[in-house]
Amino acid sequence: MAFYGQHRKSLLEIKSGALRRLTQQIIEAPTAGSGWNSRRGSCFQFTGDNMARRKKIYEGKAKTLYEGPEPGTLVQYFKDDATAFNAEKRSVIEGKGVLNNRLSEFFMHGLNTIGVPTHFIKRLNMREQLIKAVEIIPLEVVVRNVAAGSMSKRLGIEEGASLPRPIVEFYYKDDALGDPLVTEEHAIAFGWATQQDLDDMVALALRVNDFLSGIMLAVNIRLVDFKIEIGRIFDGDYQRLIVADEISPDSCRLWDITSGEKLDKDVFRRDLGDLAQAYTEVAHRLGLMPKNNGSSTGPKLVSRR
Ligand code: C5P
Repeated sequence: MAFYGQHRKSLLEIKSGALRRLTQQIIEAPTAGSGWNSRRGSCFQFTGDNMARRKKIYEGKAKTLYEGPEPGTLVQYFKDDATAFNAEKRSVIEGKGVLNNRLSEFFMHGLNTIGVPTHFIKRLNMREQLIKAVEIIPLEVVVRNVAAGSMSKRLGIEEGASLPRPIVEFYYKDDALGDPLVTEEHAIAFGWATQQDLDDMVALALRVNDFLSGIMLAVNIRLVDFKIEIGRIFDGDYQRLIVADEISPDSCRLWDITSGEKLDKDVFRRDLGDLAQAYTEVAHRLGLMPKNNGSSTGPKLVSRR
């Protein structure tokens, strides 16, 4: 089964030259107290056999969720699969899962640090991270700083036009319907979220926007727009909303400020070049991978926290 094949790769049994070089370069910086074992590549020292025995909870287009080691936790596995236009366009981009795992860790860890709660607990290995289990609210939250993509098409606004203020949109998560744009009225009337949830979701999304925009500006990248998903966690009678899923170039539009070059999934959607190279460039700029010096003599450790 393809699924087991992909899992074997996560155990660093990596035969392909390109992916081997990529994984050698990705920083092996541990999350504090993670018990990271870089030789084995896993906190839990999963072997191929016990990984295969873990219970699969959900398989999406780019990620798979497995039961976690503790109640209330899950293991999120990043696949190399790339899809666009509601999975009408598909490919496998070698190394994409490794890059997105590391990039999502970087953004989610940063958000946790500034007090924006996320599902991220720690990265386990090249393709997996330990996360809090949440009840996903069935609304994708998109924040736009610059007109692009579906907004440009829908409203006839030229791609690249700056918006007068960040615009927050909700899309109903339903593949069969193509994730349609919905209003707060729909969300409340159909019971997907309460008014309080929606207010909290907008506040969270705008904080994520400020954080990501600043980080990207520092490396000469414009955060054009992004999508997040938000989940509920329950603490006794109380519920909290936290950022879930992933934050990566799969879910953001990232344009080089000087050249306008696209460094996100539009490279795949629009056949603009090498997607893994674009994501690698983002990782390089953020200091998550050293600049390629042409040698591949082993892992390069760059400690950022
Ligand atoms: O396609 P659209 O312009 O609505 O996308 C807005 C933003 O949301 C883009 O950054 C896109 O990558 C992201 N998005 C996503 N997953 C979806 C739809 C959009 O990550 N299902």
